[in-house]
Amino acid sequence: MGVTMSDRQEAGEVLRYRRCRWCRSATVHSSFLCPVCGESELDEQVSAGYGVVSRLGATRGSCQLVHQPPHACVVTLDEGFTIPALLSEDRPTVVPLGARVCLRGLGAGPQAVEFRLA
Ligand SMILES: [Zn+2]
Repeated sequence: MGVTMSDRQEAGEVLRYRRCRWCRSATVHSSFLCPVCGESELDEQVSAGYGVVSRLGATRGSCQLVHQPPHACVVTLDEGFTIPALLSEDRPTVVPLGARVCLRGLGAGPQAVEFRLA
């Protein structure tokens, strides 16, 4: 709430990714080879933190009915790469595929990138 992008950057809460120097494909920060052309010369970039929900997490029994955000999902960032993420909402809500989301914060693990509806 009220946290600007520059505040996040000062706190180190920015989403980094890599862009191939040769084919300009974007890929996750943990990659060391371009998934498209196999090139290893990747430039580190900082994402604007906006994207869309491209897949919602695995349905396990009635978990989706439990009012227990965050939801596991996959987010495709505007820059063109896709990461597993958590979607946190202040109130239980149905999240449609393609919903616009923005970066909320980074957790401790690689799958703990948190988004909220934009
Ligand atoms: Zn490439």
